Amino acid sequence: MGTRFQITVFHSDRDHAQAWVRTAWDRIDQIDQVCSDWKESSELRQLCRSAPHPKPVVVSADLLQVMNKALEIARASEGAFDPTVGGLVRLWRRCHRAGRLPRDHEVEKARKGMGIDGIIIDEAASTIQLLREGVSIDLGGIAKGHAVQEVFQLLERQGIRHLIIDGGGDLVLGDPPPGRREWRIAIGASSQQVSSNGTPLKLLIPGRAAVATSGDATRFTEIGGRRYSHILDPSSGLGIEGPHQVTVISTDGAIADALATAISVLEPQAASDLLQRFPGSAALLVDPRDGSHQVLGEMSLATEQ
Ligand code: AMP
Ligand code: MG
Repeated sequence: MGTRFQITVFHSDRDHAQAWVRTAWDRIDQIDQVCSDWKESSELRQLCRSAPHPKPVVVSADLLQVMNKALEIARASEGAFDPTVGGLVRLWRRCHRAGRLPRDHEVEKARKGMGIDGIIIDEAASTIQLLREGVSIDLGGIAKGHAVQEVFQLLERQGIRHLIIDGGGDLVLGDPPPGRREWRIAIGASSQQVSSNGTPLKLLIPGRAAVATSGDATRFTEIGGRRYSHILDPSSGLGIEGPHQVTVISTDGAIADALATAISVLEPQAASDLLQRFPGSAALLVDPRDGSHQVLGEMSLATEQ
């Protein structure tokens, strides 16, 4: 999934915890093999290569689940989150390397196969059918969140409750470390990130929540004096202009991940409307230039050291 995962657990039985953390790493590898955009051999890449499908294709439980949630957020965000942006993402990566903007005819071509109405999911039969030729599905905005959620559930089932799973900034938190009342999550790509009064911005979370951050701190491109993110606005085909940073708290890792990506694209009012459809969700919008921030929904912040 092109990122670094970190698993931290607090448990009285070290051997038990270590054995299950090893299993958790295997589980992450398994999800990578399903969802990765970087591996030619991933189940997702194979599924897209074989489109259009004359008949529904039986897929793994992971792919079914991630695709279902991806479509749910795509519909709820009216396309701000769009898992069929794969063609545009590839074009954008090429242009990023070449240091130029994509041309109109290239954007047009990369849109081929786009649109979630070309995807049919049958949950009961565990199948997906891709109706369009050239469709390129990119789960980069949701798969890490799915992976951290799955690992959290796997470990929790083994009685490992005090834990934090981090998939490159997409977190699932269990109960806080023993003796602590809450998690204190510093927000930002670096510890230099500060709130407007000059101290680190922290989220205070009692536990059992997903926290996902999308931003362009490490992934952006500058073209003609403008700064563009790796997150694309599907309606223009271009990276959104930054710098930007969105952190979402929600009840599920995949949903938090996808919401953070969607909200990066949306204006605050539309973002607020989207959040209301997912009870227990809230967002923190930070302007990385000066640390000023805005909260949509309810969350606890601390700005002391
Ligand atoms: P994240 O870091 O979770 O915000 O996800 C960003 C990744 O999601 C990008 O690197 C792309 O692979 C993919 N992506 C970019 N723009 C969108 C979009 N509008 N909707 C869905 N996925 C996107
Ligand atoms: Mg995301």
